[in-house]
Amino acid sequence: MGEIMVISMKLHSTKAEVDAVCERISEFGYKVHSINGEERVVIGVVGVGDVTACLESLEAMPQVEKAVRISAPYKFVSREFRGSKSQIRANGVDIGGDELVVMAGPCSVENEKQILETAHSVARSGAKFLRGGAFKPRTSPYDFQGMELEGLKLLAKAKRETGLGIITEVMSDRDVEMVAEYADILQIGARNMQNFALLKGLGKIGRPVMLKRGLSSTIKELLMSAEYVVAHGNPNVILCERGIRTFETATRNTCDITSIPVLNELSHLPVVLDPSHATGKRSLVPALARAGVAIGADGIIVEVHPQPEKAMSDGAQSLTLGQFEAMMAELKPYVELWKASRVSEFAAV
Ligand code: PEP
Ligand code: MN
Repeated sequence: MGEIMVISMKLHSTKAEVDAVCERISEFGYKVHSINGEERVVIGVVGVGDVTACLESLEAMPQVEKAVRISAPYKFVSREFRGSKSQIRANGVDIGGDELVVMAGPCSVENEKQILETAHSVARSGAKFLRGGAFKPRTSPYDFQGMELEGLKLLAKAKRETGLGIITEVMSDRDVEMVAEYADILQIGARNMQNFALLKGLGKIGRPVMLKRGLSSTIKELLMSAEYVVAHGNPNVILCERGIRTFETATRNTCDITSIPVLNELSHLPVVLDPSHATGKRSLVPALARAGVAIGADGIIVEVHPQPEKAMSDGAQSLTLGQFEAMMAELKPYVELWKASRVSEFAAV
């Protein structure tokens, strides 16, 4: 097999514009392998020998966004596609930029008092996003399934009062539009990482998405799922490591901490660590959060509850409001080091 080239057309290009590019490709003697995408057409080309002249010629065409040679199976999300890190803006905050972004809140939205009290407290401690599930993917059908629309409305109220951005889970492609009305970032849970209908639906919305790594998914599978969202029109995807299933039982999941630098090498997308689901145990969360900052995550997402012992889900791994405040204070020197290394990284690009 020869070189694989990916020609990315500008958004909403016409059939005539795509045809003109295909014609240029065949003039070079190369074969169009596939034409995909609706909003953004992507032309896959198999070339043999030195494809440089063809790439340069295609990139000079006004309807072409980018023409690149890519070896990874995931194209748009790969570092080969974009050498520098992507910054994704949500509620006025950049994720993947020069500030470490902290997202915090309960596992589930349970009632008004719980979510407002948490929101005010985590905002004071320095969080920029409030997390909280209104739709909950539970292992048992008899467990609390979430407040749904009522929960989304409570999150909106918390946003109005605190200015925090909202990150909340969407479980079904049927609910994408409704959740997108309330959320600044749509969370895709580990159990839905390969729900391809949902991933395709997310391609059509103008909201950032945070994709959590599946329970037994490889890094490559995570990146392929991110590629689904981007290939279907939404480039704003954040990746999240939340631990994977192994033979170890001391923790709820095993945190693949190495996945963070691996993802940073393979992809330009921002990477967030979830030390709560990765451990399942409150006492371990601050240590893992420090590790995440030290190893170069762009942010962390942490479960926090005013009364974890009464939480309707994931109480054992939720920090109290005071513990979260203390953790944020302890993280400060690590965040300073993080910033210093970020500046030199940007300077090196
Ligand atoms: C959650 O964030 O509460 C959650 C359900 O996470 P995950 O999908 O990673 O299990
Ligand atoms: Mn949870």
